[in-house]
Amino acid sequence: MTEFGFIDQIIQMCNSLPTNGCEGIGDDCAVIPIGGGEVLLFTQDMLIERVHFLREATSAYDLGRKSLAVNLSDVAAMGATPVATLLSLSIPKELMGEWIEAFMSGYRDMSEEYGVALIGGDTTASKGDLAINVTAIGRVTQERIKRRRDARVGDIVVVTGELGGSGRGLEDILRGEYNTTSALVHKLPTPRVMEGQFLSKYSGVHAMMDISDGVASDLKHILKASSVGAEIDLNSIPAYFVVEPSEGDLQRALCSGEDYELLFTVAADEFYSISESYREQFGQPLYPIGKIVAGDRIMWMRDGILQCGDFSGFSHY
Ligand code: ADP
Ligand code: MG
Repeated sequence: MTEFGFIDQIIQMCNSLPTNGCEGIGDDCAVIPIGGGEVLLFTQDMLIERVHFLREATSAYDLGRKSLAVNLSDVAAMGATPVATLLSLSIPKELMGEWIEAFMSGYRDMSEEYGVALIGGDTTASKGDLAINVTAIGRVTQERIKRRRDARVGDIVVVTGELGGSGRGLEDILRGEYNTTSALVHKLPTPRVMEGQFLSKYSGVHAMMDISDGVASDLKHILKASSVGAEIDLNSIPAYFVVEPSEGDLQRALCSGEDYELLFTVAADEFYSISESYREQFGQPLYPIGKIVAGDRIMWMRDGILQCGDFSGFSHY
């Protein structure tokens, strides 16, 4: 069974439980209305030693930052403002003391930079690896929430930055090169929090999510949730490269994980003005990579010609 097959099974098993007004599994965050047209968003991401990181390849401080960053990214993905987190740690004895204090400094500094409170969590011993589990809570008004299910035929598909840098960094790390430029991209992702809040202001921005498993995999979640297809232009993918762009860079841009850029769809007639204001605000371009069409799959185009085959992104199983 795949990771997403298992999640589908969880949904089946639990869909007779009461919702109590909450919107549950299937988006970057769960949605809980709190009245006055506002909602709280909840999301949780774990980082497990040897699955998500190698302890020898990262500093404790950087890992503290990344643990928070990947969770803030899911809050950003729905256009919300992060307000608080809960942090649970299962810590091997030898890391108690200096190491875990440095981890907490990283977590604290990034919390301060994004104005987020730490409001609770849990601490236990670990007989083996280090496990980090973060819950992030965001706040947004009902009309500004950006979900995966709102893509419309005719929308332009857009990403907020270069893709594949983190995957390239992971390859460096697995070769024992821990401090290359790409390795730093992998170890210190920037959650697109301000960018998500900016995009949430526009009703022309329809579906949105963050890219954690690669566009090839993540865009399929938007397509499935919105019952649409997409035509993606391989020539327009902003693939991260070090010396000269190669086919491997493109493959990584589509299929490797942990870029934490935003992926969204926007009404075609609003794209130009949104992208101009975005550039003014952030000094960065938005990258249109294709369009939403009727159907249920991604058509990969190169030089205007439909390519055969498909790409797939990261999955845990
Ligand atoms: P993301 O990459 O945005 O963190 P995931 O792909 O991890 O999202 O998860 C997809 C959806 O499935 C999310 O809504 C998440 O909350 C839900 N989910 C994942 N694992 C579980 C689980 N064990 N129990 C309940 N919901 C889960
Ligand atoms: Mg996500």
